[in-house]
Amino acid sequence: MSKTFAVIGDPISHSLSPNIHSAAFRELNLDCVYIGYRIPKDELESGIEGLKKIKIEGFNVTIPHKIRIMKYLDKIDESCSLIGAANTIVNVDGNLKGYNTDMDGFLEPFKKKGLEIKNSKILLLGAGGAARAIVAGFAKEKAKSITIANRTIENAEELSEFAGKIGLASDVLKIENVKDTAKNYDIIVNATSVGLKNEQSIISLDGINEKTIVYDIVYMPMNTDFIKKAKENNAIVIYGYEMLLGQATRAFEIWHNMEAPYNAMKKALLGGF
Ligand code: NAP
Repeated sequence: MSKTFAVIGDPISHSLSPNIHSAAFRELNLDCVYIGYRIPKDELESGIEGLKKIKIEGFNVTIPHKIRIMKYLDKIDESCSLIGAANTIVNVDGNLKGYNTDMDGFLEPFKKKGLEIKNSKILLLGAGGAARAIVAGFAKEKAKSITIANRTIENAEELSEFAGKIGLASDVLKIENVKDTAKNYDIIVNATSVGLKNEQSIISLDGINEKTIVYDIVYMPMNTDFIKKAKENNAIVIYGYEMLLGQATRAFEIWHNMEAPYNAMKKALLGGF
């Protein structure tokens, strides 16, 4: 019998996950389908019941459910308990186990390109859900320190406290006070949603150079203004789609217990732009 997978969230029609996973099924000739399923914010519980009824094999979770899904899970893995949010769920006879593949997905491009994180000085823009997974990733890879710059300073402070708890030295800044300091960092990451609507980069990247790694986790559009400014300064760039692909391949491996067909998934993703 065909196995069913899904991504849940609201909105969901823009999600590229059905394209990416369907391409993997085609590539490996797997008898599986992957659907986008819109579950509004206050209908999560009944939505999950529905998924159990159709014997869903597994599902991804996106905005706005990543944190609230936690209370419906029977088991969680280490990444999930560390980050406090889940984005990949396995269903075994009605028992749900949660994973968080955002952290490994974020780190994947560094590994693929052989870029070192250890002892680096990081500037992180943003302090939302994705930023939390990113802080956990930098702590895991033993970065030297992280400066968290955010519009709402209280959110940056909360994330900084989390960084301290998991052994990563940090400080905080209001985003408008970053000014011309980008050049003092080895790795600069945009984890705000600024760029999604083609906005200008929220910080100046003047003075960075060909050794600076600039990573925008916004994946649509692919060439955000932040990425364009990084390229103008000859920096090493990592695109948001690379993280998206990293978390999707990891989710695939959790569900199917086999290596994900990276190139087929990448082709499907880039075709979606
Ligand atoms: P979130 O929890 O809602 O956090 C949003 C962050 O953006 C907060 O830090 C918020 O600051 C900041 N922000 C929003 N509008 C802003 C503005 N106009 N000026 C300055 N800062 C602003 O969202 P999230 O889940 O962390 O996701 C953030 C972005 O990452 C989204 O665009 C999402 O699509 C993308 N993402 C990509 C991947 C991938 O695989 N590539 C994975 C996850 C997320 P405040 O604290 O002040 O509100």
